[in-house]
Amino acid sequence: MYKKSGYPKLIVDLQKLKHNIDVVQLACRDQGVEIAGIIKGCTGLGPCAMQYERAGCAYIGSSRLEQLAPLREMGIQAPLMMVRVPMLSEVEDVVRICDISLNSEVAVLKALNAQARTQDKEHQVILMADCGDLREGFWDKDEMVEVAVMVEKDLHNLHLAGVGVNVGCYGSLLPTPEKLQELVDIAERIEERIGRELEIISGGATSSLMRVDDGNLPPRVNHLRIGEGILLAYDLPHLYGYDHHHLHQDVFKLRAEVIEVKTKPSHPVGEIGFDAFGHRIKYEDRGMRRRALLGIGKCDYGDPEELICCEPGAQVLGASSDHTILDIEDAERDLKVGDIIEFDIKYATIVYLTNSGNVEKVYI
Ligand SMILES: *Cc1c(COP(=O)(O)O)cnc(C)c1O
Repeated sequence: MYKKSGYPKLIVDLQKLKHNIDVVQLACRDQGVEIAGIIKGCTGLGPCAMQYERAGCAYIGSSRLEQLAPLREMGIQAPLMMVRVPMLSEVEDVVRICDISLNSEVAVLKALNAQARTQDKEHQVILMADCGDLREGFWDKDEMVEVAVMVEKDLHNLHLAGVGVNVGCYGSLLPTPEKLQELVDIAERIEERIGRELEIISGGATSSLMRVDDGNLPPRVNHLRIGEGILLAYDLPHLYGYDHHHLHQDVFKLRAEVIEVKTKPSHPVGEIGFDAFGHRIKYEDRGMRRRALLGIGKCDYGDPEELICCEPGAQVLGASSDHTILDIEDAERDLKVGDIIEFDIKYATIVYLTNSGNVEKVYI
């Protein structure tokens, strides 16, 4: 079988990842908040998942079962959390693989209950409220309360662990203290009806770390699901101005190899139609320029504009499926075929690169 060697390589610094987990977890614990480490951003890479286990994360979660399934065999003991509301067609695997799942549909809850009975298990569920972000969750909060009561009273192989909300992912909603208090209010309505406390009030994802930093998380929110804020730690400082310099933003780095270096016109020569992806592109004419081609492309990382080139003086011009084109006219280094170019990368790029079988993962 063909085994990938050489470049491109994704360099994963596990010490830096562990540091980020420790720091975020400590800040949260200080305020009575447990975290689920969400590993979908790095496609659930096993060595990365292990760092969450080593750090003692309360839960390890993903939106994809295929990423959670191997974790037990790797020796991970932390409860596994399915964070994308399950498909009806996967409830058997959800119960087999995961300890806890986020839910918003009665039909799925009933199917989970039936499966849990078949597998002789108790599966934990968190009911999701939609507080305005307009992705998953109950919009009608009266309905949500009734469903919670039904889970508690009738679905004996499910345990209603709590309630949760997602903000920011689709509707760009901010996790203001008032928004998160809406979730607490729903939790308390449910508690009143079922006559006991809910264990988990899960107040969102990375964006809710703003409330931890500001110290104004509603007191009863005791759980967050953190992906980006640990893996990359870019959004809060760069989008919202929070000081997260104590977190590493370079857990992941990309290295790609130069496969051609030539001086060429900077504007295509001839009649112009569409690029490989059917787009009309504007090309700037800067005369003859030195260019380098890299052996990596959109299939590996998605959008070339998300790449942050670390090579002084070099600039990403564009890409096709398997090629990336750099302008190196002003590069400080005299670049040659076989040289390696390093990039800092953003969240979406990490998602794509960790998914690409063409990219070797190197752990340091
Ligand atoms: C992806 C996801 C998260 C983690 O999001 P980040 O912004 O990366 O922290 C949390 N909860 C749910 C439901 C998700 O889908």
